[in-house]
Amino acid sequence: MARGRQRVHAIGRRPNHNLRRPQHPGPFRRSVIVSLMDMKASASPVLEKMLYRYPISLDSQRIIRILGVPYDAVFAFIQFLYSSRSAVSSREGEEAVEKYGMHLLVLSHAYQVKWLKRGCEEGVAARLRVEVVVDMLKLAKLCDAPRLYQRCMRLVAKDFASVIQSEGWCFIRRHDPLLEKEILQFIEDADQRRKRWMREMADQEMYQQLSEAMECLQHICTVGCTVVGPHVGEPPSRSKGPCSFRTCEGLQLLIRHSATCGKKLSPGGCIHCKRMWQLFQLHSSICDQPDSCKVPLCKQFRSKIQMDGKVDKTWRLLVKKVVTAGIMSSLAKRERPEEIQKIWLRYRGIK
Ligand SMILES: [Zn+2]
Ligand SMILES: [Zn+2]
Ligand SMILES: [Zn+2]
Repeated sequence: MARGRQRVHAIGRRPNHNLRRPQHPGPFRRSVIVSLMDMKASASPVLEKMLYRYPISLDSQRIIRILGVPYDAVFAFIQFLYSSRSAVSSREGEEAVEKYGMHLLVLSHAYQVKWLKRGCEEGVAARLRVEVVVDMLKLAKLCDAPRLYQRCMRLVAKDFASVIQSEGWCFIRRHDPLLEKEILQFIEDADQRRKRWMREMADQEMYQQLSEAMECLQHICTVGCTVVGPHVGEPPSRSKGPCSFRTCEGLQLLIRHSATCGKKLSPGGCIHCKRMWQLFQLHSSICDQPDSCKVPLCKQFRSKIQMDGKVDKTWRLLVKKVVTAGIMSSLAKRERPEEIQKIWLRYRGIK
């Protein structure tokens, strides 16, 4: 940060509507004259207290020294104090944040201007670069800026190979082992979270496919499709056009295989027949019309469960997940309001 000595003149009670740089700054070459009349009392509780506590000089001025930041950043900060909260998102506001974002963040933190701090935090976070991300991370910790902290950490985790080339990283490696440890821990946690998320997404995809397979099984056994079906009325034919179920052809092959497989009863069995068996069992567990159901073994599996009197916990969980996936999938196919669209995207891990 620049070490220039800047001073703000606060003129008490003078109805000056223009924030201005003084024409005759006297001993203070770089100063800003502000009027308390125009400044909202609540703009900065810290500055407000200081203005009333500081003694008034002979020329009716109070002088507050703001050190450690460039003069233009101080000027921009005072300008913000005179503006409405929406000023941060105006063109001039964005330009000021782009030029002096980190200084304005420090000032708004030190002088407790919450709305400006939030705007600067967002502005600095939106302009983060790998070369300075470690410095910004330190700044976020010093200024108690959690959003900026999170954004910095995410960028560090995303592009760690480039971050370790930066001066900021070399500095903390030599002088700040605690921050180095904190960053490495975050990267490890982020990696674990990513792996867990990928596992969950893979599981979600599997439940989705099983749900589709259940729907497809019902479709094959109820109305029939290209080569397999109950053959009631018109026989299934390819002339109906391609089936809308992605899994239909594979499932029909599996059903045909199971019907003729000679290994299904042999020791060790047949992996394809076992899979088909599990699909029939899964169908039976979620079937809501067992009396009229045409899917093979539906009633038999149901009777077996009733006779056993208990269902394996893992199986029960699988059934629950497949049913949920089916409900979410049918909701997704409907014309749906924005809120449901969001839930669906979150469920699919897209957002
Ligand atoms: Zn089909
Ligand atoms: Zn088989
Ligand atoms: Zn059934």
